[in-house]
Amino acid sequence: EVVTRFAPSPTGFLHIGGARTALFNWLYARHHGGRTLLRIEDTDAKRSTQVAIDAIIEGLDWLGLDYDAPPVFQSDRAERHAEVAWQLLKAGHAYKCFATPEELEAMRNDQRMNKQPLRYDGRWRDRDPSEAPEGAPFTIRLKTPTEGDVTIHDQVQGAVTVRNEEIDDYIILRADGTPTYMLAVVVDDHDMGVTHVIRGDDHLNNAFRQLPINRAMNAIESNWPDPVYAHIPLIHGSDGAKLSKRHGALGVEAYRDEFGILPEALFNYLLRLGWGHGDREEITRDEAVELFDLAGVGKSPSRFDMKKLENLNGHYLREAEDARLAALVAARIGETADEDLLARAMPVLKVRAKNLNEVVEGATFLFAKRPLAMTEKAAALLEGDAPAILRKIHDHLAAQNDWTSEALEATTKALAEEQGLGLGKLAQPMRAALTGTTTSPGIFDVLVLLGRDEALARLDAQAA
Ligand code: GLU
Repeated sequence: EVVTRFAPSPTGFLHIGGARTALFNWLYARHHGGRTLLRIEDTDAKRSTQVAIDAIIEGLDWLGLDYDAPPVFQSDRAERHAEVAWQLLKAGHAYKCFATPEELEAMRNDQRMNKQPLRYDGRWRDRDPSEAPEGAPFTIRLKTPTEGDVTIHDQVQGAVTVRNEEIDDYIILRADGTPTYMLAVVVDDHDMGVTHVIRGDDHLNNAFRQLPINRAMNAIESNWPDPVYAHIPLIHGSDGAKLSKRHGALGVEAYRDEFGILPEALFNYLLRLGWGHGDREEITRDEAVELFDLAGVGKSPSRFDMKKLENLNGHYLREAEDARLAALVAARIGETADEDLLARAMPVLKVRAKNLNEVVEGATFLFAKRPLAMTEKAAALLEGDAPAILRKIHDHLAAQNDWTSEALEATTKALAEEQGLGLGKLAQPMRAALTGTTTSPGIFDVLVLLGRDEALARLDAQAA
């Protein structure tokens, strides 16, 4: 069985990179009919916050990434982590180190002076603990292999080899009895039954420190197989630099709230960000589950491109149910919005929109109060002979009983012909008078959506 996990540290929001890691883990498990789990790595009490935990859980939920068990909180498991450290110690895979912080600092200073890598030199590896002063504080360090090398067959990066001498005997349990991050990750992954570790390639180095713990425990208990690793390249900004706030490394809620992105659009975009299936851009959730595999994950960093995200979003807006969009848009507009009217208007409002903000903008005229505020361009269209033309239009339309887009178009065209004017000559001041702007859905749709009374009143207000 495939078991994956997403293991965010709740020190900030669920940003775009984390969301993509979560998505890939979720997809991998769903594709293989396995399970996917969530672990909140909240051991850094100073930097972890409840706000961040809530934002992560809410963001995952909004993206439709569901988990097969309640989240595991790493901080709840410190005793279990310590238990494993002691087990490793007893079996001879780890040892007590009594070096004081001052002593270690002096060691590192020497290494710096000699331009050597800063590594624990193993001074307590073979020493008898009884040589330490009675009751002296100690850490527990892993006894890592000193010779040969270790190769990880990463599903994305390929074979990556590190010489064992580069990995020092690092601490797994601190002097105060708390576990280190390396230990916690390995123990949790094992206890959660994780088979595949899919995460950002900034963790590749950690894998070489986590694997020795795993292997030492496997030597004791025989049921700690190496996980399959897949380290995915980080996301860069459109200029090729590492993604920062400036590039859109924001929480997913910013995409939802500020940019008006639909979750299915972000889902599709994140999928395409680093994973490809031919040159297909639009891939639904079900198709993604069917098609996703690690072989399609690229080796080089992908570039975040807001334009592509918005293009996909435009596609999903056109696909979305009008009633659902009406509710989302109404919530953005506030009390003045009429959800039923929005739902009726949605087919024409959403056609060109790339995000919900544009839909809101396009819908403003529906709820505007007379006298209508005019944009400068709209005001210009209402000068000259426009008021006289609008009077004629108003009177013609007022005589029209069939208030449908077809009938209104026929009447207006007839009037244009009668006056020897192009339809645009009529439509432009109409649009200005009806919407206060120069861009709107088709003018006959606008008449219908406003309804006879309101439409005639708006035309009358600008007519001579
Ligand atoms: N908590 C780590 C992070 O947020 C991820 C650890 C892991 O996936 O192993 O970067």
